[in-house]
Amino acid sequence: MTINRPGDGGCQCGNIRYRLTAKPQMLYVCHCSDCQKQSGSAFGMSLIMQSRHVEFIEGAESMRSWDTRGEEGDMQRCHFCPNCGTRFMHGSNIPWQSLSIKAGPLDDTRNLQPTAHIWLQSAQSWLAIDRERYLCFESEPEDKAVLAKQQAHESDHG
Ligand SMILES: [Zn+2]
Ligand SMILES: [Zn+2]
Repeated sequence: MTINRPGDGGCQCGNIRYRLTAKPQMLYVCHCSDCQKQSGSAFGMSLIMQSRHVEFIEGAESMRSWDTRGEEGDMQRCHFCPNCGTRFMHGSNIPWQSLSIKAGPLDDTRNLQPTAHIWLQSAQSWLAIDRERYLCFESEPEDKAVLAKQQAHESDHG
């Protein structure tokens, strides 16, 4: 399975634009209640990247953020556009070296292939997930290194 560099993304109104310059270290679907709330939808999709691989093209100065505690008690800095409210990335691990990029605001999401589903205990009941195909976790994985390993394996030829 090939995972190319995901490319450019931006908020719904176009105020903020950015570019991802590397392949994600991990790409997973999260069904936690926070992801359902922040996405306003059934689940969140996260691309884990180092912050040096995210370049802002437009609107970096107008970006706003909000700090909260994640499911494990770690601080998260949630970045959004003050104009349209699109949530496009979260930072964690002060000083925010690791970013969780939201999949939805990317310009082309057709080639994104997640390797795992996490927080399945709060997934919407209609979802039928192929447990043979994906790494599956009922809550937060104890060690996310297994996700990164699977990602590296699947993007070997990317
Ligand atoms: Zn916007
Ligand atoms: Zn989540």
